Amino acid sequence: MSAEPSQKYNFEVGVYRPPSEGGSFSLLVRFTRNCPWNRCAFCNMYKTEKFEVRSPAEIKQDIDSIAAIGNDLKEISHQLGFDGRITRDTAIELINRNPELEYHHGFVMVYNWLQSGAKTAFLQDANSLIMKTDQLIEVLEYFRKTFPSLTRVTSYARSKTLAQKSLEELKAIHQAGLDRLPVGLGIHSQNRRPLMMMQIWRRKSANC
Ligand code: SF4
Repeated sequence: MSAEPSQKYNFEVGVYRPPSEGGSFSLLVRFTRNCPWNRCAFCNMYKTEKFEVRSPAEIKQDIDSIAAIGNDLKEISHQLGFDGRITRDTAIELINRNPELEYHHGFVMVYNWLQSGAKTAFLQDANSLIMKTDQLIEVLEYFRKTFPSLTRVTSYARSKTLAQKSLEELKAIHQAGLDRLPVGLGIHSQNRRPLMMMQIWRRKSANC
């Protein structure tokens, strides 16, 4: 293990976990910060926060940090005679060796994700599809290559953002590793109050 654990394990996590990403203990990876729209009347989620697109280098660094936690947990597991299985004892031992992990905002999330098979992930925050297509593809490919156990990767997107991508771009994004895109639709009354919000789920089998 390297000598700079604080830097090695450092990564960002946004505040929001979608309900559908809870049961599977999805890994949360922050591709953008906050919401580029931020004008839905019923939503205060990111109202005081500024939207920012993160660079591919920054996101890849986060992916590397998450991978480092997993690799070090497995290494400790072998050292403790657990044959690579990640257990509570391996997590406690990693914290003993790196006490700053006790206060790490994402360590428990990564531990739960690994324990539940490391199968699903959600790309935060509100609209990852706003990234430039080539950059999104670059990071998605890196993400899926780093964690081959992933079987489902989901992100939110605004319909207007999607409409600005060509069919070829959407197919390429899907091919790079994005499986699902819940899209929020707001329906308004005459006084412009939201009446309902629904989600459309596009699955891997669709033509993206
Ligand atoms: S697009 Fe989503 S996150 Fe952004 S303001 Fe609307 S509901 Fe909130």
